[in-house]
Amino acid sequence: MVQIRCCDILMKSRRRVIQALIANAIAIIIITVMPLEAHSQYTSQSSLIQNKKVFINGTGIGGVGTTFNKVVLLSFDDNLKGDFVYAKPILDKYGFKATFFIICNKTGISGTARFLNRTNWQDIAAMQKDGMDIQSHTMNHRHLNHLSANALDFEVDGSKQCLANHGYHATTFAYPYNEGSNNATVVNAVAKYYSMARSGTEPLMFLHCNGYKKQPQKDCRTYLPYGKLTYANRYAVRSLSFDVDEIKNSFNNAAIFVDFIKVVNSQNKYNSGGIINAIPPITFHDVDLATNQPYITNVDLFDQLMKYLHDNGFKILTMANLGYN
Ligand SMILES: [Zn+2]
Repeated sequence: MVQIRCCDILMKSRRRVIQALIANAIAIIIITVMPLEAHSQYTSQSSLIQNKKVFINGTGIGGVGTTFNKVVLLSFDDNLKGDFVYAKPILDKYGFKATFFIICNKTGISGTARFLNRTNWQDIAAMQKDGMDIQSHTMNHRHLNHLSANALDFEVDGSKQCLANHGYHATTFAYPYNEGSNNATVVNAVAKYYSMARSGTEPLMFLHCNGYKKQPQKDCRTYLPYGKLTYANRYAVRSLSFDVDEIKNSFNNAAIFVDFIKVVNSQNKYNSGGIINAIPPITFHDVDLATNQPYITNVDLFDQLMKYLHDNGFKILTMANLGYN
């Protein structure tokens, strides 16, 4: 792997670059993917950054000279059929893109029981054709902390290969059950094949990884000098599984909507003047006609949530819009 020594330059100019990106300027960002072993000697600051792609390719929002202080990153786990049938048309309506994390061995299965209907490869192709970001969520959705080395490799590398066999270049991984980002064996396996991984349990991802009061850290390095994994890093991009919020609110749509507004606006005190320091990454599972069911977001509620984002000028990102310097 060729290492490009761009980090010092990026550190000095990060503020200026992000401002420039947000203003839709053509700026060059080189994302260095360093081998994991290098992290223990990695003394300069590191952070997740917003990749230029969203601003150059555009999501249909904003224009030159606009400054954005409000962004949301959307992702969907488990390739459930409702994500294609119900969520995608709503995303299309508002010009939004999202990341879809695919369980490779579960594509195309169908049945009457909950969670038995999954998107097939034709659905996934149609999503990517319309600009959706397709990434890996393992082969079989197993608990990664308890696997043999071979089985772990099959879930992590196997799913990358499986996606590659269907024409998708996965660079981001999502941990099943939110397990693994604090386990060096799992993180090292993930780091061999992916440049980032998404985990859970936080409503905000701080791009400099420095906003977690209970888990203080100064930057996004993966390991501390004595070898302990950090809480937030490129293999632990924190997100909120919105299903947890829906369960907490007993599927009361009005209460869920109020909470959603709180979550997506919690970034306000960290972002200003077009400089983004914190992003709420929201994870959904199924979007479907059902109500009152865990891990299914009702389609009318989902439309209401997306409409709020649209009408209030939020810029929508996918995992592909994040990079790591
Ligand atoms: Zn999952």
